[in-house]
Amino acid sequence: MSNADPLELEKFSELAHRWWDPKSEFKPLHDINPLRLDYVDSIVKIDKRHILDVGCGGGILAESMAARGAVVTGIDLADKPLKVAELHLIETGQNVTYRNISAEDLAREQPASFDAVTCMEMLEHVPDPAAIVAACAALVKPGGPIFFSTINRNPKSYLFAVIGAEYILQLLPRGTHDYARFIKPSELAAMCRRAQLDVRGLTGMTYNPFTQRYALEADASVNYILHATR
Ligand code: SAH
Repeated sequence: MSNADPLELEKFSELAHRWWDPKSEFKPLHDINPLRLDYVDSIVKIDKRHILDVGCGGGILAESMAARGAVVTGIDLADKPLKVAELHLIETGQNVTYRNISAEDLAREQPASFDAVTCMEMLEHVPDPAAIVAACAALVKPGGPIFFSTINRNPKSYLFAVIGAEYILQLLPRGTHDYARFIKPSELAAMCRRAQLDVRGLTGMTYNPFTQRYALEADASVNYILHATR
């Protein structure tokens, strides 16, 4: 468990029982989910694909992809979120396989075995994101797409993602995000290229605090999704 921050995993475990409460600390993940789900679906046609969700947490994205017909495996290194994810399957009847295993270990166990890989809102919580990118590259089948979402690093993203979201609007608990771990799109693209991936697209994910709505648009200055293929 070298490429994981125990304090980060603890943070997510502590809040895990509220994961599926759409008014909880996880509200932003619930709110952005339809957008990212449609984005992924528009590129891979989720139905019947075998999709790996890395850093799945309580399973918001994983379950929604299963509901659209995908065969989904969700992996995470935090125990409680995985337990919550599994319990939630009882409620919804969806079929997702959850495992507590690192992306790096799974890549050694079953390389090149998924039609697509998603890794959302996770890279900014790990010590060595490039190693996760490389593991995702090893896990997807040749030609298959990978989707990463994370937070850009600049004064505006500090203002919006840390000061705005954690202190002013209190959408997230204080300390959720560490600015030093935010990743510029150019840095993520470089990690992808080093992992032999082709960067295909970059989409911004914006939040309007007045309308309280999220949208996918060109502005990637705070949150963004990067799409690459092996
Ligand atoms: N991807 C989910 C959850 C995001 S929250 C979604 O977008 O809905 C971030 C998740 O990353 C947490 O569940 C946390 O436990 C997980 N995580 C943090 N470090 C990790 C690591 N090194 N390996 C796997 N998962 C990790």
